[in-house]
Amino acid sequence: MKEFDIIIIGGGAVGCAAAYVLSRYDLRIALLERNPDVAMGSSGKNSAVVHAGFNNKPGSLMARLCVDGNKRFEEICKTLDVPYKKTGKLVVGFNDEDMAIVERIIADGARNGSIGLRRVGRAEMDGLEPGIGGIGAVFSSNTAVFDPFLYTIHLCEAAMQNGVSFFMDTGLAAVRKEGGKFILQTSREDYRCEILLNSAGLYADRVSAMAGDDTFTLYPCRGEYFILDTAAAELISRPVYPVPHKGAGGLGVHLTTTVDGNVLIGPSAEYIEDREDYATSRGMMDRLFREAKALLPALERDMIIGSYTGIRPKLVPEGQANYGDFVIEESPRVENLVNLIGIESPGLTASIPIAEMAAGIISGKRRLGINAAYRAEYRGVHPFAALDSGTQRALIAENPGYGEVVCRCKTVTRAEVLQALRNPLGVKTIVGVKNRLHTTMGRCQGGYCLAKIANIIMEEFKLAPEDIVYRYQGDTPFPGAVK
Ligand SMILES: Cc1cc2nc3c(=O)[nH]c(=O)nc-3n(C[C@H](O)[C@H](O)[C@H](O)COP(=O)(O)OP(=O)(O)OC[C@H]3O[C@@H](n4cnc5c(N)ncnc54)[C@H](O)[C@@H]3O)c2cc1C
Repeated sequence: MKEFDIIIIGGGAVGCAAAYVLSRYDLRIALLERNPDVAMGSSGKNSAVVHAGFNNKPGSLMARLCVDGNKRFEEICKTLDVPYKKTGKLVVGFNDEDMAIVERIIADGARNGSIGLRRVGRAEMDGLEPGIGGIGAVFSSNTAVFDPFLYTIHLCEAAMQNGVSFFMDTGLAAVRKEGGKFILQTSREDYRCEILLNSAGLYADRVSAMAGDDTFTLYPCRGEYFILDTAAAELISRPVYPVPHKGAGGLGVHLTTTVDGNVLIGPSAEYIEDREDYATSRGMMDRLFREAKALLPALERDMIIGSYTGIRPKLVPEGQANYGDFVIEESPRVENLVNLIGIESPGLTASIPIAEMAAGIISGKRRLGINAAYRAEYRGVHPFAALDSGTQRALIAENPGYGEVVCRCKTVTRAEVLQALRNPLGVKTIVGVKNRLHTTMGRCQGGYCLAKIANIIMEEFKLAPEDIVYRYQGDTPFPGAVK
């Protein structure tokens, strides 16, 4: 049986941040993830905004850790080679009632220590975002957008570089304690550890219950999104939100520019029963489009190129007004079980402070020596499209794979696809390539590049078409031959 000091459950941004932060110490650490790759839960299905911390209840952990995360996010992205853009954000009001909320947001932001907030009137909005409706807004200069896939992947790969072991396709099924240690029964093999760090996102209540603390119940709340073509990015240059209204379950349907040059509309907020129900619905999509058009009248339906859904792990059920703050604690019932529960938005922004708080709990339990091999910096696949033409020519001369464009929408080359496929986790899925290079995410949504990427996977790993995995084990884009 493999034995570690700490086992982290869940390869989302928070679990990977915990792996990265804890890799500073001389510990035997493993992370178990039930999916074939990291960033396949909420960390890959969100708005990708670095929030400034003014929407969270003053005094809450969410507010404190979000403000801290926001201040450090740009530096973290530089250290880990993650695309980041400080865009600022507008939170728009349409009437006097909304403008009272604008004032409240600014006051809450000040109490939370959120910096760079001010009220702007219509004239200034015309300069910032002429296409947006409304009579006034909060302007948050410290809001940013970033790439949540590469953020999570690079946290994971940096932690691996520092000695953390990652086990993919390894779902935790049961936990028991033996001689003061946890024995973890998984879909693959059993593991033993002293400290169990539960970062299982939507399933964190169940993992806690498996380990002996059934205090928590999470209520899934679905958020659907539309993805708009890069043409829509000519209409706005930063995230634009309506002021949040009570009971909305989220921050309201907003328009978010992505680091990749697309625009998102969403998310909705709908409590659902099934935690795996990632469906998008026509009715909700119509509503989202209507609400987004109220913010940005020039939007057209033919700008829509795709959709996706994220699910929030809410600690408060539908209709209840109490505040569901992050839970970051050692379970009062089970010694050495560290629970990270209810990590909904702003969990990405706050991921490093959350991980540091978890490390603080662990350092109170055992002495943490320094890992002499620790390196904070990590570098990923450098995008060919971002290089100047001289460097591009030199690279093509050295490796003709750079001369073969596989994804036309995002100008991704065969050489980059091969680098992405040679990732340290050993991920060989189509979605694994997509999350590392943004292939299949452009206007063609894979129409051009999917077959080319599948061919490269087949050549590289000597696979038959039906063995290619799209997202999860057993999920292939090529189920059988037509002739
Ligand atoms: C619609 C939406 C919009 C959001 N927008 C933003 C935003 O703009 N900015 C922001 O800061 N935050 C945002 N968030 C919040 C943010 O996405 C989450 O807080 C963050 O991604 C949580 O990371 P995590 O690692 O806790 O969870 P996840 O990313 O969900 O990871 C948990 C992992 O645990 C794994 N797992 C579960 N059970 C098991 C098991 N038994 N065995 C092994 N593995 C298991 C899952 O497969 C999953 O990979 C948004 C969230 C949603 C849903």
